[in-house]
Amino acid sequence: MSSEIIESIETQLVDLPLKRIHKFSATSINIKAFLLVRIRTRNGILGIGEATTPGGPWWAGEAIETIQLMIEKYFAPLLIGEDAMNITRLLEMLDRCAANNNFAKAAVEMALLDIKGKALDVPVYELFGGLYRDSAVINWPLAMGDAAADIEEAERMMADNLAHDFKVKMGYKSPTEDVSYIGELCRGLNDRASVRGDLNASWNEAQARSLLPQLREHGLLLIEQPLEAWNREGLARLRQSCDLPILADESACTQQDARELLTLGAADAISLKPLKSGGLLATQKIVAIAASGGVPCYAGTFLESSIGTASHMHLVAALPQINYGNELVGPIWLADDLVQEPVEYRDNRVWVKHEPGLGITLDEDKVQHYLRR
Ligand code: MN
Repeated sequence: MSSEIIESIETQLVDLPLKRIHKFSATSINIKAFLLVRIRTRNGILGIGEATTPGGPWWAGEAIETIQLMIEKYFAPLLIGEDAMNITRLLEMLDRCAANNNFAKAAVEMALLDIKGKALDVPVYELFGGLYRDSAVINWPLAMGDAAADIEEAERMMADNLAHDFKVKMGYKSPTEDVSYIGELCRGLNDRASVRGDLNASWNEAQARSLLPQLREHGLLLIEQPLEAWNREGLARLRQSCDLPILADESACTQQDARELLTLGAADAISLKPLKSGGLLATQKIVAIAASGGVPCYAGTFLESSIGTASHMHLVAALPQINYGNELVGPIWLADDLVQEPVEYRDNRVWVKHEPGLGITLDEDKVQHYLRR
Protein backbone atom coordinates (compact mmCIF):
# COMPACT_ATOMS: atom_id res chain seq x y z
CA MET A 1 0.00 0.00 0.00
CA SER A 2 1.48 3.29 -1.05
CA SER A 3 1.02 6.42 1.00
CA GLU A 4 1.70 10.02 0.07
CA ILE A 5 1.98 12.06 3.25
CA ILE A 6 1.21 15.75 2.69
CA GLU A 7 4.19 17.94 3.59
CA SER A 8 3.10 21.41 2.48
CA ILE A 9 0.23 23.35 0.90
CA GLU A 10 0.74 26.68 -0.83
CA THR A 11 -1.64 29.01 -2.62
CA GLN A 12 -1.12 31.83 -5.12
CA LEU A 13 -3.44 34.28 -6.87
CA VAL A 14 -2.88 34.95 -10.55
CA ASP A 15 -4.76 37.24 -12.94
CA LEU A 16 -4.90 36.17 -16.58
CA PRO A 17 -5.92 38.46 -19.47
CA LEU A 18 -8.86 37.63 -21.75
CA LYS A 19 -8.92 37.92 -25.53
CA ARG A 20 -12.00 40.15 -25.31
CA ILE A 21 -14.51 41.53 -22.83
CA HIS A 22 -17.04 38.96 -21.50
CA LYS A 23 -20.50 39.94 -20.29
CA PHE A 24 -22.51 37.98 -17.74
CA SER A 25 -25.98 38.88 -16.46
CA ALA A 26 -24.41 40.33 -13.30
CA THR A 27 -20.97 41.61 -14.31
CA SER A 28 -18.53 42.20 -17.13
CA ILE A 29 -14.84 41.18 -17.08
CA ASN A 30 -11.62 41.56 -19.08
CA ILE A 31 -9.22 39.78 -16.71
CA LYS A 32 -9.83 36.56 -14.83
CA ALA A 33 -8.53 35.65 -11.38
CA PHE A 34 -7.29 32.15 -10.49
CA LEU A 35 -6.34 30.54 -7.21
CA LEU A 36 -3.54 28.01 -7.61
CA VAL A 37 -2.98 25.39 -4.94
CA ARG A 38 0.16 23.27 -4.74
CA ILE A 39 0.17 20.26 -2.46
CA ARG A 40 3.57 18.57 -1.97
CA THR A 41 4.12 15.14 -0.46
CA ARG A 42 7.13 13.88 1.50
CA ASN A 43 7.92 11.60 -1.46
CA GLY A 44 8.29 14.67 -3.65
CA ILE A 45 5.05 14.47 -5.64
CA LEU A 46 3.49 17.84 -6.49
CA GLY A 47 -0.28 18.09 -6.98
CA ILE A 48 -1.77 21.14 -8.70
CA GLY A 49 -5.30 22.46 -8.17
CA GLU A 50 -7.11 25.54 -9.39
CA ALA A 51 -10.24 27.50 -8.56
CA THR A 52 -11.80 30.38 -10.44
CA THR A 53 -15.17 32.16 -10.42
CA PRO A 54 -16.97 33.94 -13.25
CA GLY A 55 -15.70 37.32 -12.01
CA GLY A 56 -16.18 38.06 -8.30
CA PRO A 57 -18.62 36.36 -5.90
CA TRP A 58 -21.94 36.87 -7.75
CA TRP A 59 -22.36 33.28 -8.95
CA ALA A 60 -21.97 31.22 -5.77
CA GLY A 61 -20.97 33.63 -3.02
CA GLU A 62 -17.35 32.48 -3.08
CA ALA A 63 -14.65 34.82 -4.41
CA ILE A 64 -11.08 34.00 -5.31
CA GLU A 65 -9.89 35.71 -2.10
CA THR A 66 -12.27 33.76 0.16
CA ILE A 67 -11.15 30.52 -1.51
CA GLN A 68 -7.53 31.34 -0.71
CA LEU A 69 -8.40 32.19 2.88
CA MET A 70 -10.37 28.96 3.43
CA ILE A 71 -7.54 26.82 2.09
CA GLU A 72 -4.70 28.65 3.86
CA LYS A 73 -6.29 29.19 7.24
CA TYR A 74 -8.66 26.23 7.64
CA PHE A 75 -7.92 23.38 5.19
CA ALA A 76 -4.11 23.33 5.02
CA PRO A 77 -3.55 22.80 8.78
CA LEU A 78 -5.98 19.84 8.70
CA LEU A 79 -4.42 18.20 5.66
CA ILE A 80 -0.70 18.47 6.44
CA GLY A 81 0.55 15.12 7.78
CA GLU A 82 -2.41 13.23 6.24
CA ASP A 83 -2.20 10.67 3.43
CA ALA A 84 -3.15 12.36 0.14
CA MET A 85 -4.20 8.99 -1.32
CA ASN A 86 -7.25 8.81 0.99
CA ILE A 87 -9.23 11.45 -0.85
CA THR A 88 -12.74 10.54 0.36
CA ARG A 89 -11.57 10.65 3.97
CA LEU A 90 -9.85 14.02 3.49
CA LEU A 91 -12.91 15.52 1.78
CA GLU A 92 -15.03 14.43 4.74
CA MET A 93 -12.60 16.28 7.03
CA LEU A 94 -13.06 19.42 4.91
CA ASP A 95 -16.86 19.05 5.04
CA ARG A 96 -16.72 18.78 8.83
CA CYS A 97 -14.44 21.81 9.00
CA ALA A 98 -16.51 24.09 6.76
CA ALA A 99 -20.04 24.11 5.34
CA ASN A 100 -20.38 25.06 1.66
CA ASN A 101 -17.18 26.55 0.15
CA ASN A 102 -17.37 24.03 -2.68
CA PHE A 103 -14.96 25.91 -4.95
CA ALA A 104 -12.25 25.80 -2.28
CA LYS A 105 -12.88 22.09 -1.63
CA ALA A 106 -12.82 21.31 -5.35
CA ALA A 107 -9.44 23.03 -5.80
CA VAL A 108 -7.98 20.89 -3.00
CA GLU A 109 -9.54 17.71 -4.42
CA MET A 110 -8.08 18.54 -7.85
CA ALA A 111 -4.56 18.65 -6.37
CA LEU A 112 -5.18 15.41 -4.44
CA LEU A 113 -6.34 13.60 -7.60
CA ASP A 114 -3.26 14.92 -9.40
CA ILE A 115 -1.08 13.43 -6.65
CA LYS A 116 -2.96 10.12 -6.67
CA GLY A 117 -2.73 9.81 -10.45
CA LYS A 118 1.00 10.58 -10.39
CA ALA A 119 1.62 8.18 -7.51
CA LEU A 120 -0.18 5.38 -9.38
CA ASP A 121 1.26 6.50 -12.72
CA VAL A 122 -2.19 6.80 -14.36
CA PRO A 123 -4.20 9.69 -15.82
CA VAL A 124 -7.06 10.83 -13.56
CA TYR A 125 -9.70 9.29 -15.87
CA GLU A 126 -8.37 5.85 -14.82
CA LEU A 127 -9.62 6.66 -11.28
CA PHE A 128 -13.17 7.08 -12.67
CA GLY A 129 -13.52 3.86 -14.64
CA GLY A 130 -11.10 4.40 -17.50
CA LEU A 131 -11.31 5.97 -20.92
CA TYR A 132 -14.76 6.05 -22.55
CA ARG A 133 -14.06 8.94 -24.98
CA ASP A 134 -10.90 10.93 -25.68
CA SER A 135 -12.53 14.16 -26.91
CA ALA A 136 -15.80 16.09 -27.11
CA VAL A 137 -17.33 18.65 -29.51
CA ILE A 138 -17.29 22.14 -27.96
CA ASN A 139 -19.89 24.91 -27.70
CA TRP A 140 -18.30 28.36 -27.93
CA PRO A 141 -19.61 31.14 -25.64
CA LEU A 142 -20.60 34.38 -27.41
CA ALA A 143 -20.80 37.21 -24.90
CA MET A 144 -20.03 40.60 -26.38
CA GLY A 145 -23.68 41.61 -26.28
CA ASP A 146 -23.69 42.96 -29.83
CA ALA A 147 -25.24 40.63 -32.42
CA ALA A 148 -23.03 41.85 -35.29
CA ALA A 149 -19.82 41.42 -33.24
CA ASP A 150 -20.98 38.04 -31.92
CA ILE A 151 -21.81 36.83 -35.44
CA GLU A 152 -18.38 37.97 -36.64
CA GLU A 153 -16.74 36.01 -33.81
CA ALA A 154 -18.87 32.94 -34.62
CA GLU A 155 -17.90 33.19 -38.32
CA ARG A 156 -14.23 33.26 -37.30
CA MET A 157 -14.64 30.21 -35.03
CA MET A 158 -16.39 28.32 -37.85
CA ALA A 159 -13.79 29.32 -40.44
CA ASP A 160 -11.01 28.04 -38.13
CA ASN A 161 -13.05 24.85 -37.51
CA LEU A 162 -12.84 25.51 -33.75
CA ALA A 163 -16.61 25.52 -33.12
CA HIS A 164 -19.92 25.28 -34.97
CA ASP A 165 -22.15 25.31 -31.87
CA PHE A 166 -22.58 28.46 -29.81
CA LYS A 167 -23.91 29.56 -26.44
CA VAL A 168 -24.94 33.15 -25.80
CA LYS A 169 -24.86 34.94 -22.47
CA MET A 170 -28.15 36.75 -21.80
CA GLY A 171 -29.78 38.60 -18.92
CA TYR A 172 -27.82 41.87 -18.87
CA LYS A 173 -30.25 43.41 -21.38
CA SER A 174 -33.98 43.82 -20.82
CA PRO A 175 -35.97 40.65 -21.60
CA THR A 176 -37.44 42.09 -24.81
CA GLU A 177 -34.00 43.27 -25.96
CA ASP A 178 -32.66 39.78 -25.24
CA VAL A 179 -35.36 38.23 -27.42
CA SER A 180 -34.57 40.48 -30.40
CA TYR A 181 -30.81 39.97 -29.85
CA ILE A 182 -31.32 36.19 -30.04
CA GLY A 183 -33.49 36.67 -33.12
CA GLU A 184 -30.78 38.69 -34.85
CA LEU A 185 -28.12 36.14 -33.92
CA CYS A 186 -30.14 33.11 -35.07
CA ARG A 187 -31.02 34.82 -38.38
CA GLY A 188 -27.38 35.87 -38.89
CA LEU A 189 -26.05 32.36 -38.31
CA ASN A 190 -29.00 30.82 -40.10
CA ASP A 191 -28.68 27.04 -40.49
CA ARG A 192 -24.91 27.06 -40.35
CA ALA A 193 -24.59 26.92 -36.56
CA SER A 194 -26.59 26.01 -33.46
CA VAL A 195 -27.34 28.61 -30.77
CA ARG A 196 -28.09 28.06 -27.09
CA GLY A 197 -28.81 30.80 -24.50
CA ASP A 198 -27.83 31.18 -20.83
CA LEU A 199 -29.96 33.53 -18.72
CA ASN A 200 -27.97 32.98 -15.52
CA ALA A 201 -31.10 33.06 -13.34
CA SER A 202 -32.16 36.52 -14.47
CA TRP A 203 -35.83 36.17 -15.50
CA ASN A 204 -38.88 35.60 -13.33
CA GLU A 205 -41.37 32.89 -14.11
CA ALA A 206 -43.93 35.17 -15.78
CA GLN A 207 -41.29 36.65 -18.09
CA ALA A 208 -40.01 33.21 -18.97
CA ARG A 209 -43.49 31.81 -19.61
CA SER A 210 -44.27 34.53 -22.12
CA LEU A 211 -40.83 34.83 -23.79
CA LEU A 212 -39.40 31.29 -24.02
CA PRO A 213 -41.80 30.38 -26.88
CA GLN A 214 -40.49 33.42 -28.82
CA LEU A 215 -36.89 32.28 -28.31
CA ARG A 216 -37.97 28.84 -29.53
CA GLU A 217 -39.48 30.40 -32.67
CA HIS A 218 -36.28 32.31 -33.38
CA GLY A 219 -34.53 28.96 -33.53
CA LEU A 220 -32.80 28.89 -30.12
CA LEU A 221 -31.95 25.26 -29.34
CA LEU A 222 -31.92 25.37 -25.53
CA ILE A 223 -32.26 27.77 -22.60
CA GLU A 224 -29.98 27.51 -19.59
CA GLN A 225 -31.14 28.51 -16.11
CA PRO A 226 -33.94 30.99 -16.94
CA LEU A 227 -35.08 31.27 -13.28
CA GLU A 228 -33.40 31.76 -9.92
CA ALA A 229 -31.51 28.76 -8.51
CA TRP A 230 -34.13 27.91 -5.85
CA ASN A 231 -37.08 27.93 -8.23
CA ARG A 232 -36.95 24.31 -9.40
CA GLU A 233 -40.75 24.00 -9.26
CA GLY A 234 -40.89 26.98 -11.64
CA LEU A 235 -38.50 25.21 -14.02
CA ALA A 236 -40.78 22.18 -13.97
CA ARG A 237 -43.82 24.36 -14.81
CA LEU A 238 -41.90 26.00 -17.68
CA ARG A 239 -41.03 22.60 -19.11
CA GLN A 240 -44.75 21.82 -19.23
CA SER A 241 -45.74 25.12 -20.86
CA CYS A 242 -43.01 25.30 -23.54
CA ASP A 243 -40.97 22.68 -25.38
CA LEU A 244 -37.72 24.69 -25.38
CA PRO A 245 -35.31 22.35 -23.54
CA ILE A 246 -34.08 23.60 -20.15
CA LEU A 247 -30.53 23.10 -18.90
CA ALA A 248 -30.18 23.50 -15.11
CA ASP A 249 -26.95 25.11 -13.89
CA GLU A 250 -27.31 27.34 -10.79
CA SER A 251 -30.18 25.01 -9.70
CA ALA A 252 -27.90 21.95 -9.84
CA CYS A 253 -24.92 22.28 -7.49
CA THR A 254 -25.35 19.41 -5.03
CA GLN A 255 -26.55 15.81 -5.12
CA GLN A 256 -29.69 16.93 -3.30
CA ASP A 257 -30.30 19.59 -5.96
CA ALA A 258 -30.00 16.96 -8.65
CA ARG A 259 -32.40 14.65 -6.85
CA GLU A 260 -34.97 17.44 -6.50
CA LEU A 261 -34.65 18.36 -10.20
CA LEU A 262 -35.25 14.72 -11.12
CA THR A 263 -38.20 14.33 -8.75
CA LEU A 264 -39.87 17.48 -10.07
CA GLY A 265 -39.06 16.80 -13.72
CA ALA A 266 -37.48 20.26 -13.81
CA ALA A 267 -34.60 19.83 -16.27
CA ASP A 268 -33.94 18.34 -19.69
CA ALA A 269 -30.24 18.19 -18.80
CA ILE A 270 -27.90 19.10 -15.94
CA SER A 271 -24.84 21.29 -16.36
CA LEU A 272 -21.83 19.94 -14.47
CA LYS A 273 -19.14 22.14 -12.96
CA PRO A 274 -16.85 20.39 -10.49
CA LEU A 275 -16.09 23.70 -8.75
CA LYS A 276 -19.75 24.37 -7.84
CA SER A 277 -20.16 20.81 -6.53
CA GLY A 278 -16.95 20.39 -4.53
CA GLY A 279 -14.94 18.32 -7.01
CA LEU A 280 -14.96 15.44 -9.48
CA LEU A 281 -16.10 12.78 -6.99
CA ALA A 282 -19.21 14.78 -6.03
CA THR A 283 -19.86 15.58 -9.71
CA GLN A 284 -19.67 11.88 -10.57
CA LYS A 285 -22.47 11.27 -8.04
CA ILE A 286 -24.61 13.99 -9.64
CA VAL A 287 -24.13 12.27 -13.00
CA ALA A 288 -25.32 8.99 -11.46
CA ILE A 289 -28.41 10.65 -9.95
CA ALA A 290 -29.25 12.29 -13.30
CA ALA A 291 -28.73 9.00 -15.13
CA SER A 292 -31.10 7.23 -12.72
CA GLY A 293 -33.90 9.29 -14.30
CA GLY A 294 -32.58 9.28 -17.85
CA VAL A 295 -31.43 12.92 -17.68
CA PRO A 296 -28.19 13.57 -19.60
CA CYS A 297 -25.38 15.83 -18.38
CA TYR A 298 -23.56 18.74 -19.97
CA ALA A 299 -19.95 19.75 -19.32
CA GLY A 300 -20.28 23.36 -18.13
CA THR A 301 -17.44 25.74 -17.38
CA PHE A 302 -16.36 28.61 -15.16
CA LEU A 303 -13.77 29.31 -17.88
CA GLU A 304 -10.93 27.54 -16.11
CA SER A 305 -7.35 27.58 -17.40
CA SER A 306 -5.78 24.39 -18.76
CA ILE A 307 -5.52 23.13 -15.16
CA GLY A 308 -9.23 23.09 -14.28
CA THR A 309 -10.15 22.23 -17.85
CA ALA A 310 -7.84 19.21 -17.95
CA SER A 311 -9.32 18.09 -14.63
CA HIS A 312 -12.96 18.32 -15.76
CA MET A 313 -12.05 16.68 -19.06
CA HIS A 314 -10.87 13.56 -17.20
CA LEU A 315 -14.44 13.10 -15.91
CA VAL A 316 -15.93 13.82 -19.36
CA ALA A 317 -13.56 11.21 -20.77
CA ALA A 318 -14.67 8.59 -18.25
CA LEU A 319 -18.45 9.03 -17.98
CA PRO A 320 -20.68 8.13 -20.97
CA GLN A 321 -23.60 10.17 -19.57
CA ILE A 322 -21.82 13.53 -20.08
CA ASN A 323 -23.15 13.59 -23.63
CA TYR A 324 -25.44 16.64 -23.87
CA GLY A 325 -22.75 19.15 -24.85
CA ASN A 326 -19.45 20.57 -23.73
CA GLU A 327 -18.22 24.11 -23.23
CA LEU A 328 -14.77 23.46 -21.78
CA VAL A 329 -13.26 26.33 -23.76
CA GLY A 330 -11.35 28.28 -21.05
CA PRO A 331 -7.87 27.69 -22.49
CA ILE A 332 -8.79 29.12 -25.92
CA TRP A 333 -10.95 31.90 -24.46
CA LEU A 334 -8.18 33.19 -22.17
CA ALA A 335 -5.39 35.19 -23.80
CA ASP A 336 -2.73 33.11 -22.00
CA ASP A 337 -2.35 29.98 -19.87
CA LEU A 338 -0.41 28.76 -16.82
CA VAL A 339 0.90 25.42 -18.08
CA GLN A 340 3.60 24.18 -20.42
CA GLU A 341 1.32 22.04 -22.62
CA PRO A 342 -2.13 23.64 -22.75
CA VAL A 343 -5.23 21.52 -23.31
CA GLU A 344 -5.52 20.64 -26.99
CA TYR A 345 -8.29 21.96 -29.29
CA ARG A 346 -8.62 20.44 -32.75
CA ASP A 347 -11.45 19.67 -35.21
CA ASN A 348 -13.93 21.65 -33.03
CA ARG A 349 -13.21 19.27 -30.16
CA VAL A 350 -11.43 19.43 -26.79
CA TRP A 351 -9.03 16.55 -26.07
CA VAL A 352 -8.23 14.76 -22.82
CA LYS A 353 -4.68 14.52 -21.41
CA HIS A 354 -3.12 11.07 -21.17
CA GLU A 355 -0.13 11.78 -18.92
CA PRO A 356 -0.24 10.73 -15.22
CA GLY A 357 -2.41 12.77 -12.84
CA LEU A 358 -4.06 15.79 -14.44
CA GLY A 359 -1.41 15.65 -17.14
CA ILE A 360 -0.27 19.26 -16.76
CA THR A 361 2.98 20.96 -15.73
CA LEU A 362 2.99 24.56 -14.52
CA ASP A 363 4.84 27.15 -16.57
CA GLU A 364 6.58 28.87 -13.65
CA ASP A 365 7.58 31.92 -15.73
CA LYS A 366 3.95 32.57 -16.58
CA VAL A 367 2.83 32.01 -13.00
CA GLN A 368 5.40 34.60 -11.88
CA HIS A 369 4.42 36.98 -14.67
CA TYR A 370 0.69 36.95 -13.80
CA LEU A 371 1.12 36.63 -10.01
CA ARG A 372 -1.01 39.12 -8.07
CA ARG A 373 1.30 41.31 -5.95
MN1 MN B 1 -24.60 28.79 -16.83
